[in-house]
Amino acid sequence: MDAEDLAQRVERGDRAALARLVTLVESRRGIDRATAARIAQGLKREGVAHRIGVSGPPGAGKSTLIETLGMAMTEAGHRVAVLAVDPSSRRTGGSLLGDQARMPRLSQCASAFVRPTASGATLGGVHARTAEVVEVLEAVGFDRILVETVGVGQSELEVLSAVDTLLLLAIPGSGDELQGIKRGIVEAADLVWVNKSDGETVTLAQTAQRQLLAALQLQRPRFAGWQVPVLAGSAQLSTGVPALVDALAAHREHLEVTGQWSSQRRAQRRERVLAGAREGAWRAFVADPTRQRALQSALDAADDEAAVVDALVASVIGET
Ligand code: GDP
Repeated sequence: MDAEDLAQRVERGDRAALARLVTLVESRRGIDRATAARIAQGLKREGVAHRIGVSGPPGAGKSTLIETLGMAMTEAGHRVAVLAVDPSSRRTGGSLLGDQARMPRLSQCASAFVRPTASGATLGGVHARTAEVVEVLEAVGFDRILVETVGVGQSELEVLSAVDTLLLLAIPGSGDELQGIKRGIVEAADLVWVNKSDGETVTLAQTAQRQLLAALQLQRPRFAGWQVPVLAGSAQLSTGVPALVDALAAHREHLEVTGQWSSQRRAQRRERVLAGAREGAWRAFVADPTRQRALQSALDAADDEAAVVDALVASVIGET
């Protein structure tokens, strides 16, 4: 399939072609990414998407909520794209089934596109090129983009480079309600959803909701003037989902009205350009035999990591 043919098929809404384009964006080969960039540039944009990160510990109900929320969005006339964590990359909790089983209705829905992320190239469950993939999905005309992350480690904050809004899922539990959730991610959350507020866990969910609300009131929100809402509901029974849809829309509106929407997008684009430049500079550096030898001897001679970094810096500065 050549680039022009691929572009035309993507324009026509061919999902297999779109999947192929995403694979090119995620490719390690520069030539594939250049082809993808050319195709993406030619795609017509239809407005601006709301990009939403969905985080939370394994088993919290992220895929169940994405299915329910995604379906509610498609029913409201939106085109929904989901970048889902590959279940094979999960170590604990959650299901071990494929995305078709994890999000059965959404993956069959004509106005949705569910894309599993390869587990190999992830940072905290976020693919190194997630931001570029999100850009392409937006260019293709998806207006709601949900990016699921695995709730482990600080690196899950990487998703902030690709989304406008971060939704954090919490699970009701006895004792420590923030169990399984890292502090950094709570501070970064724009909305919190206490899931499994149903059946026997309703009371626990309500307690967790009150405690989270109290804790969040003491904390500075990521965006000026925004009070982080803590909602409770059931992804499984779909209760509370309309309120969640409204809260997500309210966050977007707050960002737009205060100018923080465009300033965040601008900062993210700058960071992407810088990351690309760093990657290119590093590739050029290691491709240069003289520098490669200098690096190798620095590595051989180094007792510790700091010395390697010093030697590297010296070799770069020394040459320029
Ligand atoms: P993930 O690992 O965060 O993606 O979690 P899953 O969506 O795979 O859900 C983990 C488990 O919790 C599954 O057995 C779900 O059926 C269950 N679950 C998800 N949402 C709810 C909910 O709202 N209520 C109840 N009772 N169970 C839920």
